[in-house]
Amino acid sequence: MALVPGKQILEEAEKKGYGVGAYNVNNMEQIQAIMAAAKETQSPVIIQASRGALKYSNFTYLGYLMKAAVIENPDIPVVMHLDHGNSLESVVKAIELGFSSVMIDGSLMEDGRTASTYEYNVDVTRSVVVYAHARGVSVEAEIGTLGGLEDGVGSGNAHLTNPKEAKNFVDETGVDSLAIAIGTSHGAYKFKGAINLAFDVLKEVRSLVDIPIVLHGASCVPKELIDELNKYGGKMPGAMGVPITSLQEAIKLGVSKVNVDTDGRLAITAAIRKVFVENPEKFDPREYLGPARTALTNIIVSKMKAFGTAGHAKDYTPKTLDDMKKLYIGSA
Ligand SMILES: [Zn+2]
Repeated sequence: MALVPGKQILEEAEKKGYGVGAYNVNNMEQIQAIMAAAKETQSPVIIQASRGALKYSNFTYLGYLMKAAVIENPDIPVVMHLDHGNSLESVVKAIELGFSSVMIDGSLMEDGRTASTYEYNVDVTRSVVVYAHARGVSVEAEIGTLGGLEDGVGSGNAHLTNPKEAKNFVDETGVDSLAIAIGTSHGAYKFKGAINLAFDVLKEVRSLVDIPIVLHGASCVPKELIDELNKYGGKMPGAMGVPITSLQEAIKLGVSKVNVDTDGRLAITAAIRKVFVENPEKFDPREYLGPARTALTNIIVSKMKAFGTAGHAKDYTPKTLDDMKKLYIGSA
């Protein structure tokens, strides 16, 4: 089995200058699709579950499906990551399910909607770092807030990261990776008109902070997928994401973890719509979930190649959580 702490995969990516996609999962087909893509391209991979996804599956179902991904793919380094934990309690639950990495998003209050203060963010992040590191589990935190909503997470108002605050935050919390806000947002409607990412903020954070940097809200929302969706009865006018070239630029400037959820949702929904429109007589779930799974694999393969992750599965010997516990002693 190759369950790997998030810190190891991201530090390796940072060293070699590629990005690792972190793909959101809700069900078996998504997990299988992502793992098939990782196997095909020989990529390390982060599968992540939001609080909403865990709740939807009553926690245990999704936790065990993610564990199955690890068991089925002994040659692929896999991180099981909690996306947007909102409290120490949510983090404890994920670690009990066997996650090797957690995010605590203290940029928002526990309701996931109200922007928090810097002091609140430091406090909640520190408490998570102490708890998680004692168990060998890596911690991602967020400074600055993204626009848009993801599983109901987000204040709707974006505040770009203040680089000096980011540096102080990392020093004060001992966190392993840091999500920053440079103008991306959650969901399928990231920009109205011009696409504008604050690469100057990213550069400044990179020069001040030496832990891996994370970009949320990094789906491309490809036009072909939106056209396909709309062709088969969907209605998503004006959907727009981050161009792949901008993501590649961000990776070059120091982003190591690239969060992708929306593109997977679009690929699945487009494939299912197509099956239903072309074959209205079908009613076996395997006949529409199967094509959805294949469509998702294809889009994830293209991301693994574009982010530079492909071929890096065998670069290193995966560390265990026990190895990490030893590494963290004295540092948390
Ligand atoms: Zn996010």
